[in-house]
Amino acid sequence: MSRFQTKAVHAGREDFSKLCVHAPPLDLSTTYPIADLDVGTASFDALIKGEAHAHNPIYARLYNPTVARVEDAIAALEGTEACVAYGSGMAALTAVLLERAQHGKHVLVVRPLYGTSDHLLHSGICGLEAEFVTDAAEISARLRADTALVIIETPSNPTLNLIDIRAVVQAAGKVPVLVDSTFASPVLQRPAEFGATYVWHSATKFLGGHGDVIAGVVCCDEAHAGPLRTMRAATGALLHPLAAYLLHRGLPTLKLRVEAAQANAQVLAQRLVEHPAVAKVYYPGLPGAVNGHLVGTQMAGPGALMAFEVKGGHAAAASVMAKVKVLTAAVSLGSTDSLIQHPAGLTHRMVDPAVKAATGITDGLLRLSVGIEDVEDLWEDLAQALG
Ligand SMILES: *Cc1c(COP(=O)(O)O)cnc(C)c1O
Repeated sequence: MSRFQTKAVHAGREDFSKLCVHAPPLDLSTTYPIADLDVGTASFDALIKGEAHAHNPIYARLYNPTVARVEDAIAALEGTEACVAYGSGMAALTAVLLERAQHGKHVLVVRPLYGTSDHLLHSGICGLEAEFVTDAAEISARLRADTALVIIETPSNPTLNLIDIRAVVQAAGKVPVLVDSTFASPVLQRPAEFGATYVWHSATKFLGGHGDVIAGVVCCDEAHAGPLRTMRAATGALLHPLAAYLLHRGLPTLKLRVEAAQANAQVLAQRLVEHPAVAKVYYPGLPGAVNGHLVGTQMAGPGALMAFEVKGGHAAAASVMAKVKVLTAAVSLGSTDSLIQHPAGLTHRMVDPAVKAATGITDGLLRLSVGIEDVEDLWEDLAQALG
């Protein structure tokens, strides 16, 4: 079972014949009967220590089989030993930050990144001192003895810059690198192949894919997964088994969805470049994209996300959002339907105005997550909204 699409269909389902089931069993138990106290105690110790499995699940904050299935499936897609799932993308990042805070107080972060990630790091809520750079080439010069983590997002939100993961890993040396790979999904990019220690997804987006699950995952080796499970058991940032079930249900079509959306995005990006109401288009598949050469090497394709700047600033951007009919004006991304939103007013509202200006988050910028509708309907809708 070595190829991606076969894993997408079958991973986390290997024991179905033995169980005589054809869909993942949904286990909603909060507690589990303990027939033998010694086995129970040993299981408790194993799960608290962060082991992936034990003879007895004990209690749902320590282990849930439905969640464990989707973790195994996503680890298989990322090509990592393990995956640890959380109740949201932000809960997953928080777990990594709290864990890394045991190793040092300093975190190096490359901007721009998702607005709430920026806010969480900038605010110091997790007890870490975050230092921000806008050029990944600055990483090696800024490393300190107490640097516990390097964080990058590629493609980045909202302007779709690409960052060379291998170069960042090299610059970081012994310091673990976390990559927010949400925009790419494991279909297009598998950061662990380039040496990233932690691969982070808001699974709310492409992995979930249908706009009905909030979830987060961190994929890594077993040595790094153990402390994350221990942290999850202590802080309780769990993925609910029903959400895990829905997440697992969407994985067989992940590649089909991402590739169909990407094909639509390529068409729309090219047409937007030509449109007289559009000043600039940010899309990794267009000439002049930041580190566009990584498409085809680090990333299998340019993806389904883009941003574009309309002429006329805030009023023009607000008008497009008000006029779309097939597209939905809403935050989030990676769903089967197309979503358009205004980063400066919504997702990146919490980001410092100076940082917004420096990273291209202008009043006229719109971010588009392209869905799998018919591309001609999407274009007609965008064209009428642009006027
Ligand atoms: C949505 C998102 C997050 C946060 O994930 P939640 O599931 O909303 O908590 C982090 N990074 C990126 C790139 C995102 O798009």
